Amino acid sequence: MNFEFPKRLITLLFSLILLFFSAALAEETSDPWFCLNCGQEASGDACPVCGEFRDFWACASCGTSNLSPVCRNCGKTKDESLALQAADSHPFTAYPAIRRLAAAGDSAALFRLGRYYEKGIAVTQDTDQALSCFRRSGKAGNIDAWIYLGRLYDAGVLVEQDYSMAMECYQKALTLGSAEACWYIGSFYEEGSGVEQDYKMAMEYYRMAADRGDADAWMSLAYCYLCGNGVPEDQAAALGYYEKAAEAGSAAACDYLGYLYMSGSLVAQDTEKGLSWYRKAAELGNARSMYALGYAYQSGQGVASDIEEALRWYEKAALAGYRNAYVVWKTFK
Ligand SMILES: [Zn+2]
Ligand SMILES: [Zn+2]
Repeated sequence: MNFEFPKRLITLLFSLILLFFSAALAEETSDPWFCLNCGQEASGDACPVCGEFRDFWACASCGTSNLSPVCRNCGKTKDESLALQAADSHPFTAYPAIRRLAAAGDSAALFRLGRYYEKGIAVTQDTDQALSCFRRSGKAGNIDAWIYLGRLYDAGVLVEQDYSMAMECYQKALTLGSAEACWYIGSFYEEGSGVEQDYKMAMEYYRMAADRGDADAWMSLAYCYLCGNGVPEDQAAALGYYEKAAEAGSAAACDYLGYLYMSGSLVAQDTEKGLSWYRKAAELGNARSMYALGYAYQSGQGVASDIEEALRWYEKAALAGYRNAYVVWKTFK
């Protein structure tokens, strides 16, 4: 009896130790991580694809490889480096950092990871994963994710078209304070998408969007006055709202005012004013205005005809994504 007890105690201790180690081991193997060198999912100490260690990171500022959380060369922290890498414009460079940040629940990284899955960049294209990332991002407070999801349901892209789902997403973005969401909800009321058409409600939401800083929303109010939707038709009021939108920094409004003055609709034709609105819109990045300026220089509309200058504007417009400008630019080259 006296000898039995310590023996049993030792067995018990031994099993406890075993249990402890197997638990520690299980924790290690069941805790996946994302390699900061290649972005692959890994477990254990080293990445199965590239062999880098779990703690490895290359400083996005100076390129030095590190294991400790502060760069041994420039002093940047690992978190600062991760943020820099995730913001890289090249999707493959940004990918490992986005993966790591998304796994930690970062809402912006989750949204971007969703776009990777949507397009099949650095990962196999996977619609379900994309949608799940967008949702998780939205639930973590990302406005862009809710707007994006809303637009997918609105247009029936990746998902079946569903206006009430779209509205739900816009409402979620609205509760997070989004001006853009107000505009989308207003447009649903204007078009009667998923809700009964209601111009008054539409205008209320457009006004809310404009008050929250969405300059383009003044244009939607202008359009209501132009067509007499929910209000008596009033061209002067419409023009006033287009100007308000332009003053608030809407590139689309500047472009539209340029068109109105060039063509003499709603206003007396005035090419000088028209061109100056086009220039303002182009400065704000409006590709259609860049194209229109190219056309003005090509045809000598309000300016001396100048093919070189026209080509410069066509090239700018094409680089800003205007397809027609690229077609015209190509025919001259
Ligand atoms: Zn790796
Ligand atoms: Zn560094």
